[in-house]
Amino acid sequence: MVLGELGGSVVRALQKMSNSTIIDENVLNECLKEITRALLQADVQFKLVRDLQMNIKNIVNLDHLAPGHNKRNIIQQAIFNELCKMLDTGEPSFMPKKGKTSVVMFVGLQGSGKTTTCTKYALYHQKKGWKPALVCADTFRAGAFDQLKQNATKAKIPFYGSYVESDPVQIAVEGVDRFKKENRDLIIVDTSGRHKQEAALFEEMRQVSEATNPDLAIFVMDGSIGQAAYDQAQAFKQSVAIGAVILTKMDGHAKGGGALSAVAATKSPLTFIGTGEHMHEFEVFNVQSFVKRLIG
Ligand code: GDP
Repeated sequence: MVLGELGGSVVRALQKMSNSTIIDENVLNECLKEITRALLQADVQFKLVRDLQMNIKNIVNLDHLAPGHNKRNIIQQAIFNELCKMLDTGEPSFMPKKGKTSVVMFVGLQGSGKTTTCTKYALYHQKKGWKPALVCADTFRAGAFDQLKQNATKAKIPFYGSYVESDPVQIAVEGVDRFKKENRDLIIVDTSGRHKQEAALFEEMRQVSEATNPDLAIFVMDGSIGQAAYDQAQAFKQSVAIGAVILTKMDGHAKGGGALSAVAATKSPLTFIGTGEHMHEFEVFNVQSFVKRLIG
């Protein structure tokens, strides 16, 4: 993740401010301008940056600070808190319970890392004592079932799919029913991706969701897509009741802004991040440590 550059810029802006003997409105404005530039370069959506800037200005009222207060610390803390607030929806994500069947549906564009993430998610829970199972309801991409089958076999997780059935809704329903009967407590449904946010994809997702009635729909997004993140996340949110977001490829060129955009657009918490192609390269997302890395 290329968070270092942003961290450096924010730290530089704060340092510049601390070198000034007096911290007045002008110095604060100059500092906020530099931070704004750094956030935009990190692919944070323009509107979010503007909101952040306004909030910090409202919180940091220089005139009312008693003498002796470390203004630099107060400003730094305000930036930290505001970024945390943007990433924390205040609503915890749905948590599957061991021993009680939960259905979790994965949605996202093709290539986002959805199929890989389904297995990572299953494996993560399997290690913690759940009994996961994987259903491949992606009948659109040739090879999708083979990929899921391969991953699932490697991770020793039961799977369901079909080489002949072309109706994703039917496969999803059959798979979910079978694993419910087998008392699997975490049934993960991988859906079709497609390249674009096309109407057919959204309609299919809607139908699979209606037929399987998932407890949670997770939106998987490539963390390195930059400014496109907000619109993509919002388009998915409008079609399916997204309850959580997972960002992938955070080991690559992702700059962090995608995380803020995805949370803002879906109003759902970011629960995990993918940090590599390997099945174990998967981390629980922690708001505070992410922001610490973001701003240094
Ligand atoms: P899908 O089309 O959305 O199901 O995407 P896939 O699961 O097939 O993943 C697309 C590509 O992204 C594959 O080459 C994966 O190995 C890769 N990938 C998935 N997650 C990550 C990740 O967190 N980091 C990296 N570096 N690559 C990933």
